[in-house]
Amino acid sequence: MSKKICDFLIVGGGVVGLSVARELRKRSPKASICVLEKEGNVGVHASGRNSGVIHAGFYYSPDSMKAKFTRSGNLDLHQFCDEAKIPVNRCGKLVVAGDEKEEQVLDVLAERGRINGVPLTLIDKSQAADIEPRAKTYRRALWSPSTSSINPRQVLDALVTCLKKTGSSLSFGETFVRKGQNSIQTNKGTIEAGMIINCAGTYADAIAKQFGMGRDYVILPFKGLFIYAPEANGAIRTHVYPVPDLSTPFLGVHVTIGADGKTKYGPTAIPALWNEHYQGLKNFRMGEFLKVASAVGRKFLTDGEFRRLARSEIRKLSRPFLLSQVSRLISGVDLSAKPEWGPSGIRAQLVHKPTKSLVMDFVVEGDKRSLHVLNAVSPAFTCAFPFSRHLCDRIFS
Ligand SMILES: Cc1cc2nc3c(=O)[nH]c(=O)nc-3n(C[C@H](O)[C@H](O)[C@H](O)COP(=O)(O)OP(=O)(O)OC[C@H]3O[C@@H](n4cnc5c(N)ncnc54)[C@H](O)[C@@H]3O)c2cc1C
Repeated sequence: MSKKICDFLIVGGGVVGLSVARELRKRSPKASICVLEKEGNVGVHASGRNSGVIHAGFYYSPDSMKAKFTRSGNLDLHQFCDEAKIPVNRCGKLVVAGDEKEEQVLDVLAERGRINGVPLTLIDKSQAADIEPRAKTYRRALWSPSTSSINPRQVLDALVTCLKKTGSSLSFGETFVRKGQNSIQTNKGTIEAGMIINCAGTYADAIAKQFGMGRDYVILPFKGLFIYAPEANGAIRTHVYPVPDLSTPFLGVHVTIGADGKTKYGPTAIPALWNEHYQGLKNFRMGEFLKVASAVGRKFLTDGEFRRLARSEIRKLSRPFLLSQVSRLISGVDLSAKPEWGPSGIRAQLVHKPTKSLVMDFVVEGDKRSLHVLNAVSPAFTCAFPFSRHLCDRIFS
């Protein structure tokens, strides 16, 4: 068993952990920075399994961190991809409305976009048809030209290259196991660190609790399933999203165009039964199952909104139902098709235990020796660079 010493120890090599390491290096050129990643590579969890959309920042209430970080993260990530020569599909996004009531939400989003300083235009049905002839909307739609797509794994690989070049160390296959007196224990040895930054995704709450943090919270894993759409490359020109239910952190089933021009339908937002419940019984852990079952059970019994959300999400496990949701957004969807399910992703969604509410914004707790990212809520991929600046401001304050 080895013993290591470092100035900054980051637990978790997702987009948040890697971005924090990059930002720390900018601010502290001589510090020893180490990232621990329990998997053999980056991108095994949420950061490598998301929709790959660089969001614009108009969904979120203007006073939220999410609004601020999404707007500047959009600019930062486009610049990073340009510099690293990562292909970006600048396809834009249409938000469409199904009826008059939904159309009112378009106005709310347009106003949020205006306050958040995001380029956005309310357009009529015929303008929407010029942008995407298959998009269906009631009378008006919202056009977001700055929403685009990347392959998230290419971004993670570029971050790894950048960290290695600047002398930070990445230890793959090394898991944070427990906190010691003045050190932490991993499966490979002991590490003494000046500052520990916990960016462990679905495990961040469990790690935080060992440091006496995050006592009011529990992370619930929510699974996002995608369907690979039976569409030719380029058949759809832009992302098409429904108006979201603004009381939940999820955006509803949508049509996304990848960096490679391929179309995906989804994702769902169904409670997963354990943290890494991607398929079958793989990665099953009884403790996690009991934690999820008790938190979801309690929420189901006491929260009517959650019951409604869970029921509607569970219906999306049926391919015909999911396709019928998509057919509300675009024409020409073959409802009898049996397209493949793609790899799923799992969101680490924070629940505030006293109010039993799903937390909609970023949550960070810490002290002089450790900082814990408890809710790297979607779209944390888009937000990662400004969010890491925010974390470093806290570390160096
Ligand atoms: C289906 C889906 C679609 C999404 N779509 C988008 C989108 O289009 N655009 C967008 O901006 N965002 C999107 N998101 C959100 C975004 O992907 C996440 O918010 C973001 O990736 C979270 O990053 P992270 O670094 O916090 O977590 P992760 O990527 O989960 O990284 C955490 C890392 O910590 C490691 N780890 C855990 N425990 C330990 C331990 N004990 N020791 C060492 N390592 C540990 C894990 O192996 C993992 O690699 C989506 C998410 C999902 C699931």
